[in-house]
Amino acid sequence: MKLKKILHSLTSFVTIFALTSGIIITYAPAGAEDLTVDDIKDRIEQIKQDNAQRRDEIDRIEGDITDKQENLDKAAGLLNEQKELVDYYYNLVYYKNQDISTLQGNIDTLTDEIAQKDKAIAKAEADIAELDKENKQNLEKFAQIVRTMYTTGSADMFGVLAGSADFYDLMISSEVVGKISEQNLQFMNELTADMKKLDSDKKLLETDKKDLEGKKTELDTQMTKLLSEKEELDGLVTDAESAKSTYESDYNKYSAAVSELEDQKSNLQYLINVSEADIEAYEEQIKEIIKQQTNPDKEYQEGEWYWPVPGRSYISCNFGWDADFQRTHKGIDIGDAGIYGDSVLASKAGTVIVAETSYIPGYSYGMYVVVDHGGGYTTTYAHLSDVYVYVGQEVAQGESLGAVGSTGYSTGPHLHFEIRLNGEPENPFNYVTMA
Ligand SMILES: [Zn+2]
Repeated sequence: MKLKKILHSLTSFVTIFALTSGIIITYAPAGAEDLTVDDIKDRIEQIKQDNAQRRDEIDRIEGDITDKQENLDKAAGLLNEQKELVDYYYNLVYYKNQDISTLQGNIDTLTDEIAQKDKAIAKAEADIAELDKENKQNLEKFAQIVRTMYTTGSADMFGVLAGSADFYDLMISSEVVGKISEQNLQFMNELTADMKKLDSDKKLLETDKKDLEGKKTELDTQMTKLLSEKEELDGLVTDAESAKSTYESDYNKYSAAVSELEDQKSNLQYLINVSEADIEAYEEQIKEIIKQQTNPDKEYQEGEWYWPVPGRSYISCNFGWDADFQRTHKGIDIGDAGIYGDSVLASKAGTVIVAETSYIPGYSYGMYVVVDHGGGYTTTYAHLSDVYVYVGQEVAQGESLGAVGSTGYSTGPHLHFEIRLNGEPENPFNYVTMA
């Protein structure tokens, strides 16, 4: 009792799982419903023509891509060269700026030195002026001495001196100085020496300043040259950058053109692939139609139709329009949990006209059996895991045809069961009742 309950829950779980996982049964290309073999062949021919045109177009595009790729490669080469040139010019500008900054440092140093010389010269001039002033005061004193000597009659020659306007000139002339007592002239000589020294210092300073100014003029000339060279480089950089932009926009243009063509090409290739899959599906469809052709002379036997998997009653997909998969379902799917391997029974007596054991995994009916019951009636049993009958075999009603499986276009074990009349799918529930 307990075990039964557990099994029941397990079954419910599996059933719900099977329900939610969605069991897909047969595959038919879009729009292939109810077409004759000739219709399908026309469609295949049309697709082949379309694909031939697409392939021509792809060839044309590939030629175009080759041309554009050449341009693109050329543009890429030019762009790279130009990038190198721009980098090279930026390097030159960098070093030129370093030269300018070094030179500016030297000029600044020289300017400072000149300013210092100016200061020293100004100081020497002030000192000289100071000494000169002192000297003139001393001369005045000396003149006083001389006048005193004269009036007391110490020396006649001083009469001339006393009247002289430019006393200083006369004073430093050795003839006169020699006659003046050392005592009296001592301080005069010291002053004169100091002045001479200052004067010569000042001259040296001025010479130095002149040298410095000469050097500065030279550096200023160098600076003018460097600045003009830099200006020239800046011009080259601007031109190179502008050429680079042009090459860049060329490159982008060709690159965009190539990718657009590549897109066009892969779109066409995609269409070809999709429609080639359609062709395969159409060819399968033709095979199925041809296989299922019934014997027109076979007579239909009245009587009930058997449920093909007795004891199994879970319908995972009904006959007719299936909104989930946007297609018409040509039969019913019986998908009870545990159905895998169940015997599939002939719904009525008849002749086996299809006993297919080879199939493409993921496509169509997988392994399947079709039985001709006469009067244009057939039954189809699809996605089998095994087939027990052969084409041409007469089977009795209820005879085992194969085993339930999940081959072909199927996501789980189930039996896809169809009843057709003259090739047109009928709702099986108009014929069979569950058993
Ligand atoms: Zn089905």
